[in-house]
Amino acid sequence: MIVEKRLCTCCFACINKCPKQCIHMEEDKNGCIYPVIDESKCIHCNLCKKVCPSIHETNFSYPKKCYAMYGKDENLIEKSTSGGVATILSNYILKKNGVVYGAAFQNKEEGLVNHIRIDRKKDLQKLQGSKYVHSYIGKTFQSVKKDLENDKLVLFVGTPCQIAGLQNFLEKSYENLYTIDLICHGVPSQKYLQEEIANLTDKKVDQISFRSKDGYVLRLYENDNLILQVGQKDSIYYYGFLQSLFCRENCYHCLYAKPERCSDITIGDFWGLDKNSDIFKKSKKGISVVLPITKKGENIIQQCIDCFEYEERMPEEAIKGNTQLRSPSVKPRNYDKLAKIYHKGGMIKLKKKIFSRRDLKEKIKKNKIIYYIYKSTKRK
Ligand SMILES: Cc1cc2nc3c(=O)[nH]c(=O)nc-3n(C[C@H](O)[C@H](O)[C@H](O)COP(=O)(O)OP(=O)(O)OC[C@H]3O[C@@H](n4cnc5c(N)ncnc54)[C@H](O)[C@@H]3O)c2cc1C
Repeated sequence: MIVEKRLCTCCFACINKCPKQCIHMEEDKNGCIYPVIDESKCIHCNLCKKVCPSIHETNFSYPKKCYAMYGKDENLIEKSTSGGVATILSNYILKKNGVVYGAAFQNKEEGLVNHIRIDRKKDLQKLQGSKYVHSYIGKTFQSVKKDLENDKLVLFVGTPCQIAGLQNFLEKSYENLYTIDLICHGVPSQKYLQEEIANLTDKKVDQISFRSKDGYVLRLYENDNLILQVGQKDSIYYYGFLQSLFCRENCYHCLYAKPERCSDITIGDFWGLDKNSDIFKKSKKGISVVLPITKKGENIIQQCIDCFEYEERMPEEAIKGNTQLRSPSVKPRNYDKLAKIYHKGGMIKLKKKIFSRRDLKEKIKKNKIIYYIYKSTKRK
């Protein structure tokens, strides 16, 4: 074992570093993957431990500034999840002949969602939009290193644990590398998502949208045609994601859910933004919170500033409004009970259990007299 299970973020740094390629991933009962060493090939060089961000200290800094932002170009950011900041900064890097790494839905043998490298604007839409699931890094850290050493401008977007993994793997800082971390409340395993898709359709899904400007709606596509859509209220996957029921174990002990950050720029949704602010009144779609952490981060934002509607705010406003900038997600109280149901009967049983209870509660709530009796028996 490289690091104890409750801390392993599965950032793939160990796999990328291993000189003997003797580390592979294995799934646990929840479909979460963990690195396993083939002892017969291991030469005990300990490089896997040396690059593990859960073992070694990461450099964190408090945000220098804070912006509420969204992209002006509605066409460009149409498919983005919040203000399209990741897409606009990626576009800037591509224009400078650089390369961008980010998460794309692929439905391949390696995984449903994987980190990929793009170097053309026409591929930008593959990265656009949050994929609310664990994205597999694969061997992309090795590819990033090659690009950096070939003097390419590189932008890497990921969860903070992925950024920490990349930094540890690289072992030194590069002037031509920009990193953006997403504020993250935890990643579900790909197995949950695979099961959800299989339960919804038997068609070959080749694109998913998790969230659009109309809210949290899971949309499945085949050859660009919408097969079906499920709102968060009817999707057990979405329920589990939003209630932090499907997080990897390490997400409940996340080392990165705090105001101090490890990348050049942190982005997320601007929860808690003052409703009386001019930008809130002006925006019809999502507003991103953008926290420049390093000078380099602030510089690239300034290079693209004309592409944004923005307002400078205080970092403390964002930290107060966004739980994930203060502390990790909390494991639901009934986690063990629900996990047992899932292990026995999969997503279908879990959905039945959770949604029938919820629907009953709603029915009771609608009938005021029964609700009053229900509440008073609960008090006793
Ligand atoms: C699993 C997850 C949980 C999140 N939880 C929160 C939260 O609790 N609070 C909050 O404020 N914001 C959260 N976010 C961030 C938020 O949903 C938006 O991704 C963020 O605001 C960027 O929006 P955008 O419009 O600038 O990005 P877009 O222009 O839509 O681009 C999306 C970028 O995110 C990257 N990306 C997408 N999915 C993943 C993934 N699974 N892993 C790594 N990188 C990915 C893409 O590569 C792309 O660069 C979460 C995102 C993810 C993926």
